[in-house]
Amino acid sequence: MRHPRTHAWQAAAGIVAGGAALAGVRTAAGRPVLSAPTLAAAGAGTVAGGIMVYEWLTPRSWLYGPVFWHARTQERVVALTFDDGPCHPYTEQLLEILAREGVRATFFQIGNNVRREPNLAAEVASRNVVANHTYDHPHLVWSRPGTVREQLQRGQEAIHDATGTLPHLFRVPHGWYGPQVISTAEELGFRCVGWSVMAWDWDRQPSDVIERRILHGLRPGGVSLLHDGQDTDAFPKADRSHTVAAVPHIIHTLKANGFGFATLPELMDLDAQDSRP
Ligand SMILES: [Zn+2]
Repeated sequence: MRHPRTHAWQAAAGIVAGGAALAGVRTAAGRPVLSAPTLAAAGAGTVAGGIMVYEWLTPRSWLYGPVFWHARTQERVVALTFDDGPCHPYTEQLLEILAREGVRATFFQIGNNVRREPNLAAEVASRNVVANHTYDHPHLVWSRPGTVREQLQRGQEAIHDATGTLPHLFRVPHGWYGPQVISTAEELGFRCVGWSVMAWDWDRQPSDVIERRILHGLRPGGVSLLHDGQDTDAFPKADRSHTVAAVPHIIHTLKANGFGFATLPELMDLDAQDSRP
């Protein structure tokens, strides 16, 4: 069932169209362009249009339906998430670090990469949480609902074939949610996920920059976004060595500051508990 808010964009679109039309009609009728009612109508249309576009492009989209991007809690707990894998050898290296540190994370896997590395996908799923990041990693922001549905279902099939699990979390590639993305994902039973801090690590930032950005931005209940792969590329085109080098220091510093680690489903449970009245 769709979340009631997935229909809110229609109301926003109505305000955009209504405000612009009213301002246009008043101007055409010879009313002063700078009169208060004309300016108010044009302003309402512009503000609603700005909100619509912003919500379309933000990983914390709210208007088109719920996107989980942090837990409302004071508890010092964060979730580490990794996108675009599985990708040899970086995913194995991360799994080793996580196991050594006693930390579990959430991996948003691309179906195409799972088909290429099914054993690695299964290894991830044996200790961590696996989630859906589409099959081909396309920009879905302007896609038709049928395309969104196909990407999610093919990704789901690949993950299920390799790991035996059926994810119920989805993160849109590139972080751009549109109304049709959230409503289609919800119809398929997914919960949409964003993030509270990321490090532009796909741009091969030096590892100390990645560490600083994540540590600077993480708050209690936060969700960090890093990458163990790169799109549907394989090694050596995909290079995540800087990310892998940054993760041990990120974990050590967070631990030293009293933080614990949760998977996304655990963080969502914490959010549900702490926001209960
Ligand atoms: Zn991605």
